[in-house]
Amino acid sequence: MEKEVYLDNSATTKCFPEAAELMNRIYLTDYGNPSSMHHKGVVAENYIRGAKQTFADILKCSPRNIYFTSCGTESDNLALIGAARANHRAGKHLITTKIEHPAILETMKFLQSEGYEVTYLDVDENGRVDPAAVYDAVRDDTILVSVMHTNNEIGALEPVAQIGEAVKRKNPGTLFHVDAVQGFGKALIHPKKMHIDLLSASGHKIHSPKGVGLLYIGDGVKIQNIIYGGGQQNGMRSGTENVAGIAAMALSAKKLYDQLDEDRERLYSLKQFFIEKVTKLDGVHVNGLQGTDSAPHVISLSFEGVRAEVLLHALEEKGIYVSAGSACASNHPHISDTLLAIHTKEELLDSTLRFSTSVLTTKEELQYTSDALQELIPFLRKYTRQ
Ligand code: PLP
Repeated sequence: MEKEVYLDNSATTKCFPEAAELMNRIYLTDYGNPSSMHHKGVVAENYIRGAKQTFADILKCSPRNIYFTSCGTESDNLALIGAARANHRAGKHLITTKIEHPAILETMKFLQSEGYEVTYLDVDENGRVDPAAVYDAVRDDTILVSVMHTNNEIGALEPVAQIGEAVKRKNPGTLFHVDAVQGFGKALIHPKKMHIDLLSASGHKIHSPKGVGLLYIGDGVKIQNIIYGGGQQNGMRSGTENVAGIAAMALSAKKLYDQLDEDRERLYSLKQFFIEKVTKLDGVHVNGLQGTDSAPHVISLSFEGVRAEVLLHALEEKGIYVSAGSACASNHPHISDTLLAIHTKEELLDSTLRFSTSVLTTKEELQYTSDALQELIPFLRKYTRQ
């Protein structure tokens, strides 16, 4: 078999075999509709009940706080549009940051077109939002603040607990939403302790299938549903639940959280190993912070004098899969909002690749990738200069 090194885990991950097997069982045997009253329906409903309990244990909340959606994007849409519509009498001002995923930025743009006002906060050179800046931006009419847990392009970790505290200190009525699509499964997140009212996560980023997402909605948080239909999930999200996806996402989440400390340690040491190797080459820059001040699984590197797309395909020739910027945005090419926000030098904007690892990544794979870079970079630079 040809060598394959998958380093695009922030785009999506390989399913855990146990998760795929569970889905298979649900598709072929336990395929009932959870709303049906007969035995097959009850079996399906039990998978959902079990999954809710698993997520409640992980997030230290009640199962009634867990809602399932079709993806992280839908969870973000439900949180933002749902909160805006349910709370517009209290105000029409929302706050977010300049480095959010398009699932947030495009939804905010939509809300602006509906008459809401949105403040986009700056970040520092490492992509971090200052909680004091959030405090200053919150007003009497601010109904929601949305800040991501982990940035998908450079792996910046946002100080969400301090931001949550700042939001509530300034205006206890303002809701706090966290897009944790990149952070869930990689870090402990306790919404209540961190003053988080709404939290989004996605199945396919944590070794379960595409097509399933989660939204945590805190007790007493007012949200208006955005999908209408049969009234499933207390009317918050109509539509027959993706039982197989939900059960698989819970299984993968439990597996990740059961061994979180060991995996985090290993991922940080892999990250350090890889950075040490590749920065031996001249003109290679790491974007954002390193070590435990950054996400364990995201490594953003800029290569002077090399076009990202050319390097991406040269690595692909060697069986190595990486990403130029964020895969989710690559269908509509534009300069990365995150790289612009952290004031990346103009000549490096088009020379940046993201290497993202997972619990399945090995040191040997990173050694192979670093060897490939040592070989390709001087060659491509010579080629680019000609
Ligand atoms: N938010 C962040 C930070 C992401 O990285 C992504 C996907 O990359 C999303 C939201 C969207 O998630 P999904 O692909 O499940 O819609």
